[in-house]
Amino acid sequence: MAWPISRNAAAVRETAHPVVERVTLADLRARLATELPGVGPRIEAALKQLGVASLADLVSHYPSRHEDLSNVKRIADLRVGERATVVGRVVSLRPVGRPVRGRAPGFAVQLYDGTGYIPATVWGRHWLAGQLVPEVRVVVSGEVQRKYGIQISAKSIEVVDEDPADSGDGFGPHAGRFVPVYPVNKGIQARRMRTLIHRSLDAAGRILDPLPASILLGQNLPSLHDAIHEVHFPTDRPRLKSAMRRLVFHELFLIQTGLAARKARLEKTEFGGRHEGDGRLLNPFLKELPFGLTGAQERVIEEVLSDMRLEKPMRRLVQGDVGSGKTVVAVAALLSAVESGGQGALMAPTEVLAEQHYLSISAALADLPVKVVLLTGSLSTAERKAALESVAGGEAGIVIGTHALIQKGVEFWDLSLVVVDEQHRFGVSQRTVFREKGTTPDTLVITATPIPRTLSLTLYGDLEVSVIDELPPGRKPVETELVDLAGREAAYEIVRGELEAGRQAYAICPLVEESEALEDVRAAEELFDELSEEIFPERKVGLLHGRMKAEEKRRVMAAFRAREIEVLVATVVVEVGVDVPNASAIVIEGAERFGLSQLHQLRGRVCRGLHPPKCFLVAEPKTDDAAKRLDALCEHQDGFRLSEVDLQIRGEGTLFGSRQSGMPDLKVAKLLRDIDVLVEARREAFTLVAGDPTLKNPAHRPLRREVKDLLGANVEWLFRE
Ligand code: ADP
Ligand code: MG
Repeated sequence: MAWPISRNAAAVRETAHPVVERVTLADLRARLATELPGVGPRIEAALKQLGVASLADLVSHYPSRHEDLSNVKRIADLRVGERATVVGRVVSLRPVGRPVRGRAPGFAVQLYDGTGYIPATVWGRHWLAGQLVPEVRVVVSGEVQRKYGIQISAKSIEVVDEDPADSGDGFGPHAGRFVPVYPVNKGIQARRMRTLIHRSLDAAGRILDPLPASILLGQNLPSLHDAIHEVHFPTDRPRLKSAMRRLVFHELFLIQTGLAARKARLEKTEFGGRHEGDGRLLNPFLKELPFGLTGAQERVIEEVLSDMRLEKPMRRLVQGDVGSGKTVVAVAALLSAVESGGQGALMAPTEVLAEQHYLSISAALADLPVKVVLLTGSLSTAERKAALESVAGGEAGIVIGTHALIQKGVEFWDLSLVVVDEQHRFGVSQRTVFREKGTTPDTLVITATPIPRTLSLTLYGDLEVSVIDELPPGRKPVETELVDLAGREAAYEIVRGELEAGRQAYAICPLVEESEALEDVRAAEELFDELSEEIFPERKVGLLHGRMKAEEKRRVMAAFRAREIEVLVATVVVEVGVDVPNASAIVIEGAERFGLSQLHQLRGRVCRGLHPPKCFLVAEPKTDDAAKRLDALCEHQDGFRLSEVDLQIRGEGTLFGSRQSGMPDLKVAKLLRDIDVLVEARREAFTLVAGDPTLKNPAHRPLRREVKDLLGANVEWLFRE
């Protein structure tokens, strides 16, 4: 049969066939949405609010869900109760419902499709009525109902092309298919967005795949082009699913490729000190410990030390729940660095913790020939000068401090190991700070797992991970109870019992925004007054907050450790790491204001002693999320589990503050849901980079471009030749 070629159709064939031009995503990023018909200044502004400016933004503005309008049926086959789509011609139109101010609230369109007639009722949407003249072809989707007779309650009604088979695209973007529903705002309607995206896909043309075909084949994933099209306008559910998987894989693969390349580069260009400790410090330290190491501690120490023996710089993350004994691992590493003639630095997130580490570590090492110095922002000028001199002169073997350690003016004699303690979000960019001083010390990052294990693969994707998955023997779960203001008094009565038994307690003040530091002090002082004058007038109550002078803080902590203070009223300065084993109870006021991991950390202050510890969360949660957090805390003791709950509650968007972590936000991947894809993406990425560390192979050029564009300035130096 000869094709009746109209002028129009011929034109279409000419442009569509001879050259299949492939555009890269980078090309699309360079083309503005305004090149599309229908995008004037108003729409442009509305798109901008959604973060959409280029054609690439448009084609990757993925739908949040789809409306399934794909169940196309003949009118004769319709069944009451089903949701279906029918295609028919308008026969007639009549108003329905009781008129309000002279206008009927809806209308019924009588449809005919060759097999039967059915009325479709439409509520509102009066502007449609003018288009629905007899003989016009429409696609209607909705529920089939029996009212006076059988009818369709139209959820969607669309006028469509004369013959859908000609358009090659079914019924167009809006009907008779899985119809995408997009995130929109006031300035742009859902329908308009759908049209725009449909056009942008046409305008984009054939999109080149930056991922190697072999990987796609192995992973059984569709091409990027197909995936993008399917995700917007799916053919069917299975294909939609594999398209989604492809996009998730895509995103994670690019990140992992960046991390792998970065790691490869560092390994090639950097040399760390070889730490061959002779055990002259480490052995006596371990021998003098008042306890035996847990199996997990032993294993992790060995993992760390064997990394340190290598010439390539160590990059290792040690994860372990609150109270699992991570400090010992840090000290072992520091001692090994000193034994091999270098210096070790231990960096803590707060002065209180730095101070505590200094006290406990220098006490533990008192009999050993190693000098420990403290370097924080609040040393006196003379103290600071002395500390700096011994750091620069090499007398100080171990330097403990806060961020002050990485400030200008701190010169090390031979810094060969950096331990970063309890840094929740110590991302790629911060970790490079030490390195940029010219040397490449070994790096050990220690965290109490505010993030699930698998997640750290992404966040710390270039680190090796060691997990302390065992608590010291005899640890008791912290009995955690949620009390309201009425139950608060009873809670403090229980605390009184603990104090009478010779133990100690913390009372944590409600969290106050950082910007209101003075409020913070006021809240702390109020709670202090209440406890010391009304609740525990017979007990010794102390106060610790961030605004106190370092000297004062030191005095208070020392008094608490010496049991001269029985109840310590404190702000979150005690959040992490503080370790006073005799403390067996903690009351957290205004608990609904704290984050989940913060509460878990705070509670961890009292899990270290021999007595069954108690934690009271004083809260009147006003939001669902707050209630969920508090319930989770009462229910679970395990930090891994809690961090997953936390992630579920908070969503994942907040996880990668990109500036902090040096990682881009995830757009399509959801880490909890997509862990299996993450693992695959990571494996494939590392394999690929092992064979082509700088992605120089011409076949990898598009990939390289994508990784660079995605990870931006953070890894710009990554590909420097
Ligand atoms: P975290 O992992 O939270 O930093 P720490 O290192 O502060 O934990 O240790 C918590 C407490 O447990 C400390 O008082 C420490 O002395 C003690 N501890 C550490 N390891 C052991 C162990 N193997 N057996 C008994 N107690 C231990
Ligand atoms: Mg610790």
